[in-house]
Amino acid sequence: MAAGKFLMVGAGLSGAVIGRQLAEAGHQVQVLDSRDHIGGNCHTRRDPETGVLLHVYGPHIFHTDDAEVWDYVNQFARFMPYKNRVKTTARGQVFSLPVNLHTINQFFGKTMRPDEAQAFITTEQADTSIEDPQSFEEQALRFVGRDLYEAFFKGYTVKQWGMSPTQLPASILKRLPLRFNYDDNYFFHKYQGMPEQGYSEMITRILDHPGISVMLETDFSREQTRDYDHVFYSGPLDGYFDYELGRLGYRTLDFEKFTYEGDYQGCAVMNYGDLAVPYTRITEHKHFAPWERHEASVCYREFSRNAEPGDIPYYPIRQLEEKALLAEYVALAEATPGVSFVGRLGTYRYLDMDVTIREALDVARGFLAAKASAAPIPAFWSAPL
Ligand code: FAD
Ligand code: UDP
Repeated sequence: MAAGKFLMVGAGLSGAVIGRQLAEAGHQVQVLDSRDHIGGNCHTRRDPETGVLLHVYGPHIFHTDDAEVWDYVNQFARFMPYKNRVKTTARGQVFSLPVNLHTINQFFGKTMRPDEAQAFITTEQADTSIEDPQSFEEQALRFVGRDLYEAFFKGYTVKQWGMSPTQLPASILKRLPLRFNYDDNYFFHKYQGMPEQGYSEMITRILDHPGISVMLETDFSREQTRDYDHVFYSGPLDGYFDYELGRLGYRTLDFEKFTYEGDYQGCAVMNYGDLAVPYTRITEHKHFAPWERHEASVCYREFSRNAEPGDIPYYPIRQLEEKALLAEYVALAEATPGVSFVGRLGTYRYLDMDVTIREALDVARGFLAAKASAAPIPAFWSAPL
């Protein structure tokens, strides 16, 4: 196959990984990003005053069951062991998350063993009349019961999503486990860790290839597609079409940064379950790198609200209304030759980093195979609906 010239819109994980794979196959890759840094939403940088490594767009913990993805990231960064242990403040006390035996015993003032706690939740708390939970609230009532739901999930979810848990799908809560032992690891994946010098350093290495050029502070415009053999677009799907059908709904985040001399909260992530507290959580960034020593500390209070034009899109809302609009944009995208829509914004899905990398590797492989056999190149490699 003759060398091609390809454009990656976005220097996040999607653009970097696809770009790297195509460059390694001998092609010329141009990566561009409107921001003044690479890394997309995984971007990390050192705070100039304290030297603390900041997760600029919110806390990012790498966790996966995918051995190939784990090997992939370990080629580009040294991963330090890191377990995400989240606490929550609710009703004037600090509890352990995800809901585990410690949380249950503390909350109900008991000293139950695992089987006793399981029997207690199933027979005295869970609403077993709900057979097939559809909403977030039904899922919570069915599996943990009203008391734990109202303390830990109801207020937090209203703050996070700006709507009642009765309107949200059960799938959002299914991301969190319920444990009848003292395991307080937030994730249950086989591999978990933190790149020693941050995600941006890792992504800089992914982009460090003679076939790749990176251009920052440059907005993509559709005319550029003419200059390339194919475009991989990891920006917002509706943005590609200048929002001509309307805007896909997103939640955005505001981070209120503050510094503290010493240890502010003793852990990386403290959630706030009470609705009366306006923020969802506080992250204390130095605890994401426990192998480093810093006296001073940098924390972010995190507030969630609906994204307006100009805000950074964080969480796709994906309610019925958004899915109907999404279907219309998908049809437009499928009628746009020469462009593949990738990543969390290009496909309007919440994607963890490991899934983003898995999909990026698959896109690059699929693309190279299609090119080699002169097969058509799809607009989407993973169905966004
Ligand atoms: P992005 O990182 O969003 O990159 C897209 C890039 O495209 C951006 O840099 C943007 O500036 C650029 N761009 C957009 N439009 C244009 C344009 N028109 N012209 C030029 N450039 C453009 N995952 C985990 O695995 N673990 C976690 O703990 C975790 N925590 C998260 C916490 C939060 C608050 C959020 C929102 C996400 C979290 N994630 C986490 C998910 C993670 O952020 C994503 O998997 C990852 O960022 C996806 O990479 P991407 O390249 O697809 O998108
Ligand atoms: N959640 C909650 N209380 C918490 C943590 C999470 O109610 O203390 C809910 C919230 O609705 C969130 C969902 O559980 O969106 C999934 O949790 P996860 O930690 O995966 O949150 P996200 O990645 O959405 O921030």
